[in-house]
Amino acid sequence: MFLVTETTAGSHTLQLREELLTGHRCKISPARINRRLDTVYRPPPPAPDCPFCREKVFSATPTFSTGDRICVGESVTFPNLFPFAEWHTVTVITARHDAGVFSRSEILDALSGQLQSFSGIGGYKSINWNYLPSAGASIVHPHLQGLADRRPPAIAEQYLLGGVRYLIRNGCSYWDDLVEGERNSPRYLFGDEIFWYAHHVPLGEREVRCILPVSTCEEFSSYLEPFVDGLLRILTFYRELGTYAFNMSVFFDKKKNRNGFSSFCSIISRINPNVSSTSDTAFMERLHLEPVILTLPEDLGRDFGNRK
Ligand SMILES: [Zn+2]
Repeated sequence: MFLVTETTAGSHTLQLREELLTGHRCKISPARINRRLDTVYRPPPPAPDCPFCREKVFSATPTFSTGDRICVGESVTFPNLFPFAEWHTVTVITARHDAGVFSRSEILDALSGQLQSFSGIGGYKSINWNYLPSAGASIVHPHLQGLADRRPPAIAEQYLLGGVRYLIRNGCSYWDDLVEGERNSPRYLFGDEIFWYAHHVPLGEREVRCILPVSTCEEFSSYLEPFVDGLLRILTFYRELGTYAFNMSVFFDKKKNRNGFSSFCSIISRINPNVSSTSDTAFMERLHLEPVILTLPEDLGRDFGNRK
């Protein structure tokens, strides 16, 4: 499933990893965590002009062509005012500007709002979350983004195409083989039908993936509750590690095909917001497309196991 080359850089160990299906590569340099770039999390200051707070959300945000927004519990879903996809929505997750800890019902309602908004929409869909400005959120108030395009996101396309090739060559699903292999690895976190593990060639720091037993957004609705339970466990784990900011994406196939694809969720932790604008993303991530990772996935799996 992946190749590891271990080398030394100065007095430190360096791993080069490559995922065979996609060709995705990363470098893992555990010693770099000693730079201690991350700072202690401090809640964001109040924002009196926040367009997603209750006083403004129903006047400052657009409506769908029906003239409505989708409301499920406290969540409110509407079109993105500045879209970068053919279909691009925003779901304000909760009325609370600084959510602190998310409740099960808040995330369930928000994801349900996303799924409702996708009803009747074609294309390749994804549900995404940038949490906190250091993870790229332009508005602190917690919100999801739903995207649908006629072409899949680049990373999903690699897995879709790679999955078909794997199925043709091996006569079985890449994802089934992946789950079987990871189940007994030090990267395994929890779950079975909904399978959570520390990804072996991470896209970002402390990447956790969830493999879903479905391929489309429509099928996902049956698994929302156990998915949210798992997601909350990961967010709690991140916070125990001192990291609050994160990115999350859930990728879907366009329609239910026998092409060997499983929907999956990827979550990476990000540096906490800081006053000097120190970033955890630089030329390696942005120009080389080869992230430098600090935490070995096997160490993440061990840390998770130790906290149970
Ligand atoms: Zn707000």
